[in-house]
Amino acid sequence: MSETTEKITGAAIVTGAGRGIGRAIAVELARHGYHILVDYAGNASAAEETVALCQAEGVDAFAVQADVSDEDAVKGLVKSALERFGRIDVLINNAGITRDNLMLRMSAEDFDLVIEKNLRGAFLMTKYVGKEMLHQRSGRIVNISSVVGVHGNAGQANYAASKAGLIGLTKTTALEYASRGITANAIAPGFIDTDMTKVLPEKVKEAMLQQIPLRQFGRPEDVAKAAAFLASDDARYITGQVLGVDGGMGC
Ligand code: NAP
Repeated sequence: MSETTEKITGAAIVTGAGRGIGRAIAVELARHGYHILVDYAGNASAAEETVALCQAEGVDAFAVQADVSDEDAVKGLVKSALERFGRIDVLINNAGITRDNLMLRMSAEDFDLVIEKNLRGAFLMTKYVGKEMLHQRSGRIVNISSVVGVHGNAGQANYAASKAGLIGLTKTTALEYASRGITANAIAPGFIDTDMTKVLPEKVKEAMLQQIPLRQFGRPEDVAKAAAFLASDDARYITGQVLGVDGGMGC
């Protein structure tokens, strides 16, 4: 690590960083000189690949399996980051799942599950990482919401509610933590090409493409660049905002 020490900017936790958008954010932050804790739910080999990609950027990185909706697991995750890095400068709440269905067919269990993983998870992470950031009197929190959290989407009552809830959580975090120099912002991606969207039928994808003014799906890296900006000093005066990365879908 010695030859790279000069470029170290700080330390970051990225939840759900094994794959997709979370991985792209982890690698982008590593490129900006952050040590990275790669959180994941169950896919250890994907998480280790992300760790290797981050390490290739010359920073320290390691993976921890922790379900962000499990309070004890979150406390353990934060402890691991502090033991390894000594501080946490950036928290990216990216972990998320879908359980799509029209409302009349959606079970209450699937509603609760998505709220639990997507919203309770971000709350717990913000609470326990926020405590450290308050002591440090600095920090950046970026929540990965969705265009669906702003506009709604048929078949995604649970997901849309969780992502709208994340926006409320973001704005409240911004207000509660501002006096200690901590910012909290949300990104609302549109349709991004990842495992989450690969499973959608071609017909649905084609219909979605027609709703995107830029007429192309986004890449995980598009979201990662926005997250790295919001985590940087260049965004020091921006808090409580929702940044669309959606090819114009949110216009
Ligand atoms: P993805 O490819 O399905 O990856 C999701 C990641 O989250 C995986 O690494 C998974 O871990 C992790 N994860 C899931 N539940 C978790 C939990 N309870 N605790 C910890 N980690 C958990 O998804 P993605 O498309 O990259 O999406 C990332 C985020 O962006 C999500 O919040 C999603 O809602 C949001 N988003 C995505 C899109 C899109 O079009 N793709 C659009 C708007 C918003 P494992 O690898 O271990 O399974």
